[in-house]
Amino acid sequence: MFKVGEFELQRVIENEYPFVEASTFLPDSTPELIAENAEWLFPRFMQPGGDMCIFAFQSFVLRTPRHTILVDTCVGNDKPRPAQPMWDMMNGPFLADLAAAGVQPEDVDYVMCTHLHVDHCGWNTRLIDGRWVPTFPNAKYIFARKEFEFWETRHKEGTEGKVPNVYDDSVLPVVEAGQAVLVDWDHEFDHGIWLEPAPGHTDGNIVINLESAGEKAVLSGDVVHHPIQLVKPEWSSRACEDPVLSGLTRRALLEKHADTDTLFCPAHFASPTIGHVVSKGDAFAYHLHDHG
Ligand SMILES: [Zn+2]
Repeated sequence: MFKVGEFELQRVIENEYPFVEASTFLPDSTPELIAENAEWLFPRFMQPGGDMCIFAFQSFVLRTPRHTILVDTCVGNDKPRPAQPMWDMMNGPFLADLAAAGVQPEDVDYVMCTHLHVDHCGWNTRLIDGRWVPTFPNAKYIFARKEFEFWETRHKEGTEGKVPNVYDDSVLPVVEAGQAVLVDWDHEFDHGIWLEPAPGHTDGNIVINLESAGEKAVLSGDVVHHPIQLVKPEWSSRACEDPVLSGLTRRALLEKHADTDTLFCPAHFASPTIGHVVSKGDAFAYHLHDHG
């Protein structure tokens, strides 16, 4: 549990494992640079004996004095993802783990997705009697309109790429249930909670800023996937729609928060995930937060 002023942040992990080789996921990465950083990368952030990156897939529960908010909803159960065998027809205990964190589905007031990739909106819905229904029956789901329309257009064109079902099974049922709220790219959701455009990974990608009682955090989603990118902010992932823009957005976000007290909360950094960005030469380093 992390405190941000009056807010509380808690991670609920769906999976955490060696996920992909750096050489595959970050095409510009080099064995030399990984070797130079081996001391802090292994074994927490990379699996010893190669360049397999450890990834967490997790949601952030944000509790404010008024609301329970779930940010990013992982991969989900029962979803056909044949192109990604690790995620195909999953049957994991995410909802039990969410309950263990004190959150029943009906307790969630808002769901927010930093973007609408397969591993950020899966638990938006679950399969009940053969139909995809919103997992959180009392929640409004906040989507940046720009991100929603990007995937709506792709869906209509049939150009969603290798995970064509996501819009159909994890986004559209929320809209059809009347639970989706489309907002501006820089929407101020509530006092101390606001969206900030962070394009490149996807066209409508956002980060979510938190500020309460003078304390700050940023839920940075997939602007940075892995801490090795702090050493080379221009290394964009294969999953980035616009790798060049993604690199510029990444460096700008890291610069903004470097050497501040802002808690940096990336979607996929290995546990304990949350830390602080510090500047190092013309790039950055990551200091894990020391409690929580
Ligand atoms: Zn992701």
